[in-house]
Amino acid sequence: MKENNSGTVVVIGAGIAGLASAYYLVRDGWKVKILEKNRGDNNCSYGNAGMIVPSHFTPLAAPGMVAQGIKWMFNRKSPFYVRPSLNPRLMSWGLKFLKHANRAHVDKHACAIRDLNLYSSGLYNALAAEDDFDFELKQNGILMMYKSSEVQHEEIELAHHAQELGLDVDILNGNEVQELEPNLKLDILGAVLYRCDGKIYPPKLMQQLIGYLKMKGVEFHMETEVNKFTVAGNTIKAAISNRGSFEADAFVLTGGAYLPQLAAKLDINIPLMPGKGYSFMYDPMVENNMNHAALLLEARVAVTPMNGQIRFSGTMELGPANDKIYENRVKGIVEAIPKYYPELKVDYPKDNIWYGYRPCSPDGLPYLGGLKRYGNAVVAGGGGMMGLSLGPAYGKIVSDLLSRRPIESDIIGFKPDRFDG
Ligand SMILES: Cc1cc2nc3c(=O)[nH]c(=O)nc-3n(C[C@H](O)[C@H](O)[C@H](O)COP(=O)(O)OP(=O)(O)OC[C@H]3O[C@@H](n4cnc5c(N)ncnc54)[C@H](O)[C@@H]3O)c2cc1C
Repeated sequence: MKENNSGTVVVIGAGIAGLASAYYLVRDGWKVKILEKNRGDNNCSYGNAGMIVPSHFTPLAAPGMVAQGIKWMFNRKSPFYVRPSLNPRLMSWGLKFLKHANRAHVDKHACAIRDLNLYSSGLYNALAAEDDFDFELKQNGILMMYKSSEVQHEEIELAHHAQELGLDVDILNGNEVQELEPNLKLDILGAVLYRCDGKIYPPKLMQQLIGYLKMKGVEFHMETEVNKFTVAGNTIKAAISNRGSFEADAFVLTGGAYLPQLAAKLDINIPLMPGKGYSFMYDPMVENNMNHAALLLEARVAVTPMNGQIRFSGTMELGPANDKIYENRVKGIVEAIPKYYPELKVDYPKDNIWYGYRPCSPDGLPYLGGLKRYGNAVVAGGGGMMGLSLGPAYGKIVSDLLSRRPIESDIIGFKPDRFDG
């Protein structure tokens, strides 16, 4: 690999991980080529809830998730679902998940996840301050709202843990939350306000990143699917695609939920399961009445004011990707809304449903760092429910690693080949 950043980097995937990597790489002087198998205008980084979440310091693999998941499997409208299947990939992923769903695992990694998210949130602030960017960044916190005393108990316990970790968090009763949202009637017991969290409008961020990168000379090769690599010893020489071969000094592997297939071309095992989620935009002219993004905890529904509208999103269907929209799951989201916001009457959004696949690792941790076997490749992905939030941190760390600079966040637990061999 060239030492003076004058070399070429091929970035595979034009989601937030790929675009953010390209952003920092091009600023560091690299010549960047992005290879994207689709058109790169509707991947998981577009339709998500747009939340920046230092609050999500608990990995998905956490105590209680297994029991909760089994309970929810028997409810067709539940927000979490694992389709029962003998698919060997799903079974192997599930066994790894079970192994990690314990308190020791959560405690071991909470600080590193918190720090990576806070680091990324700071990088979002810096990006939003630039002239070329305005993606509706608002760092005024997210309300974790609950209706039941059972969830209240769990959430307050988590809030205390967050406070011990130094996060800016307030526990509020129903009236206090209503004071924060004076223009929108709420029917809740209370909420925890994670002041450390924020939100953006993801499509605007993605479009502005693409515009900026093109302006800086980054080459975009769309409908270009990488299906092979040429290697020599421990160096990747070229990515081979349906549109020819791309040689480079260094390679960045992203790929979202398809990262395992990409890594398999290098004979490396990076386990991920797609976690399908849905979202839709609602245009009630109340966006200006809603001050805060929120999570409706019992229903696991995310509510984000953006682009003059509100985006509702939710469900986590774990299993191999398929293009089916399961109406009952979307109905689960729709029916939850008036239970928390009694004045919001939302119809089933028939022609307006987006879905995407969260890239979920079995231990709930991202994959970020170099590969043992190939010295000129870096992986960024596996962010699951926080992949958008982590975008700038992915990008900055990818560029620091390839530019041989010290990195500013602890990524030791996130090694991309930790399950390999
Ligand atoms: C309903 C929902 C709500 C969410 N809400 C949030 C949230 O509020 N906050 C948050 O932080 N995260 C959220 N997420 C998760 C977040 O959207 C993802 O973690 C993130 O977008 C993943 O980004 P990525 O770049 O890794 O993958 P993607 O955005 O999926 O991009 C990967 C790209 O790689 C391309 N690709 C794959 N294989 C190849 C190949 N072989 N050759 C070339 N190209 C390839 C794909 O076509 C794709 O365009 C949510 C997700 C969902 C579904």
